[in-house]
Amino acid sequence: MTRKYNFCAGPAALPLEVLEEAQRDLVNWQGSGLSVMEMSHRSSEIVGIATEAEKDLRELMGISDDYAVLFMQGGATGQFSAIPLNLLGDNRAADYVNTGQWSKKAIKEAKRYGEVNVVASSEDDNFASIPAFDTWKLNKDAAYLHYTPNETIGGVEFFWEPDVNVPLVADMSSTILSRPIDVSKFGLIYAGAQKNIGPAGLTIVIVRKDLLGKAHPLCPVGMDYQVAAENESMYNTPPTMAIYLAGLVFKWLKKLGGLEAMEAINRRKAEKLYSYIDGSGFYANPVEVASRSLMNVPFTLKDESLDKAFLAGAEEAGLLNLKGHRSVGGMRASIYNAVPEEAVDALIAYMKAFAEKNG
Ligand SMILES: *Cc1c(COP(=O)(O)O)cnc(C)c1O
Repeated sequence: MTRKYNFCAGPAALPLEVLEEAQRDLVNWQGSGLSVMEMSHRSSEIVGIATEAEKDLRELMGISDDYAVLFMQGGATGQFSAIPLNLLGDNRAADYVNTGQWSKKAIKEAKRYGEVNVVASSEDDNFASIPAFDTWKLNKDAAYLHYTPNETIGGVEFFWEPDVNVPLVADMSSTILSRPIDVSKFGLIYAGAQKNIGPAGLTIVIVRKDLLGKAHPLCPVGMDYQVAAENESMYNTPPTMAIYLAGLVFKWLKKLGGLEAMEAINRRKAEKLYSYIDGSGFYANPVEVASRSLMNVPFTLKDESLDKAFLAGAEEAGLLNLKGHRSVGGMRASIYNAVPEEAVDALIAYMKAFAEKNG
């Protein structure tokens, strides 16, 4: 079996050990005689799997009992609607920061439900930086402040948390579990699973319990955080197989040494790649150095007419999904947790050879 290196932005690479364990247990999970996919979500097996996954996630991220951990569906995009529907309350106005394509989508959706104040934007800078915090026009009465700690498309990451007096809401889809964070600074954290957690189909919401119970009367029941919390994410059928696989990823992370150990590996991977790009004279990354993403590394070639040949050669070398997002062009290497350091080494070696041949 030849596994290739997958630099896809999402759905993304999964740890090989996790895939192999799932394969071993696929048709007969731990002697139960059934596949996880065939089990009732009311069964002790699935309830046990979900409980354990939650426990491991709480341990990895240091999530206190002040927070509910919800296994939901609908992706991060579903949360663009669920957040205003659950958190605006009587206030009807929220602050949003615009640092890229995902911020923009969250803003556009929130405008359907209430007043959105864009308190800072880096659009004029082509989303290559983060506006300095002292320039943000914060509203003290906002129901919450929403931002995107890692912009998956632009490759821009916050290495600090906005210090605000309203609940801080973060779309962590492409950065969750990549390094430790202080959960207590946040009102709500959400993430689609398909980048750093597991397969597509699961959405994780970590919400401070005092924010529950304020949903708009028209909030769909499947999106109501209070309903999900009261029913331990089993009001309706949750994505059982995706929760199981996420649970295996959490165990894999724990075995690796937790998020500190993961961060050290991720920093090494990213530093190698950026430092090669910067010194190459052939490739370039447009993002301000202090805000360069550890997970998503966009880069351009000196001459974009070489893009096609670069991608074809990469594919031949077993390096997949390096094409940049259609909205920005160029290349993008997503180097999430499950992308091994050898993959980054192989990518750099290929980039070097390509530059030498075409430079
Ligand atoms: C991938 C991604 C999304 C969209 O996630 P879906 O699960 O496809 O809705 C939203 N925000 C960020 C930051 C992402 O990386």
